[in-house]
Amino acid sequence: MKKILVTGGSGFLGSHLCDRLIARGDDVLCVDNFFTGSKKNIVHLMGHPNFELMRHDVTFPLYVEVEQIFNLACPASPVHYQYDPVQTTKTSVHGAINMLGLAKRVNARILQASTSEVYGDPEIHPQPESYWGKVNPIGIRSCYDEGKRCAETLFFDYFRQHQLDIKVVRIFNTYGPRMHPNDGRVVSNFIVQALRGDDITIYGDGSQTRSFCYVDDLIDAFLAMMDTEKGFTGPVNTGNPGEFSMLELAELVLKLTGSKSRLVFKELPSDDPKQRKPDISLAREKLGWEPKVALEDGLKETISYFKHTLAL
Ligand code: NAD
Ligand code: UDP
Ligand code: UDP
Repeated sequence: MKKILVTGGSGFLGSHLCDRLIARGDDVLCVDNFFTGSKKNIVHLMGHPNFELMRHDVTFPLYVEVEQIFNLACPASPVHYQYDPVQTTKTSVHGAINMLGLAKRVNARILQASTSEVYGDPEIHPQPESYWGKVNPIGIRSCYDEGKRCAETLFFDYFRQHQLDIKVVRIFNTYGPRMHPNDGRVVSNFIVQALRGDDITIYGDGSQTRSFCYVDDLIDAFLAMMDTEKGFTGPVNTGNPGEFSMLELAELVLKLTGSKSRLVFKELPSDDPKQRKPDISLAREKLGWEPKVALEDGLKETISYFKHTLAL
């Protein structure tokens, strides 16, 4: 049994990670300030003898004793991270410093939930880890993109300067049950709109692409990465290489929900990347991992979750 800290543990990905760690017998400390996370996501774990929940903001120091840290604390959807952009940068940067300081003091292995956003609006397609990205440093997405890039810098400097045992994964768009219905991300937006019979909001002409990974596959990658040999730091791309335009996604959601919602076109937000697809060769080689869940199957699971939670 390992004592494991999950920051952002009551969020979408964090709560699934807590479930898997508890299921395999670890002792889990879930830390969250509930900015976007919810107690509902982890209520079923409360009272479990191996699970502890702490309300705490990672921009403040945290003194606990753990063997491993999964650092997930950070709002992930553009709507949420742009709500208080200064706090978003603080969460990524001060949060990383505090969690790295903690890892240093207790000699813990630490994994950073980084993002495909470090590639910005990429000129290379698909994106390998060696690509440095094309990121606007002063735009509305910068608090998140540059915050996450700076966090990666901190991780690699603690590795070089203090020999910390770091692991960095770059997560591409991931979806599944427990996404917040008002989260603003495309999969939850389209499903909720389709189920309610509301218009499906396509930003721009819908030709921009994303690659969507089902949450269970992503958690497999997290666990595999945490267990790689010491010295293997990543960064490693984790995502599903299937690539879909937002129009294709909308059509698929309409088909699977049987909804009669109309497609409406809205203005494309600034700096919205035109294309994104992970090159996962490194994950295949080093983690022996690749995603198993097809978009259609993952969407069915997610649709039934939203039907249930929204009582539709
Ligand atoms: P989420 O918003 O559901 O979860 C983030 C969690 O962090 C929430 O529970 C929130 O309350 C918590 N949090 C935010 N600021 C905090 C702070 N200062 N102190 C403590 N807790 C704080 O989002 P998610 O999709 O679960 O994302 C989890 C992590 O994965 C994030 O770091 C995100 O950047 C990264 N990521 C996610 C995706 C994706 O597609 N889901 C893609 C790339 C990267
Ligand atoms: N820190 C923490 N928990 C710990 C140890 C450190 O939150 O158990 C924080 C502390 O606030 C510190 C930061 O991590 O500012 C970085 O720690 P480090 O030891 O790298 O640097 P220093 O203490 O010299 O600032
Ligand atoms: N998007 C959309 N309609 C929505 C929400 C998002 O067309 O209601 C688009 C958005 O402009 C982007 C893509 O879907 O091109 C993915 O958006 P999301 O916020 O999910 O993730 P990110 O842009 O961070 O990859």
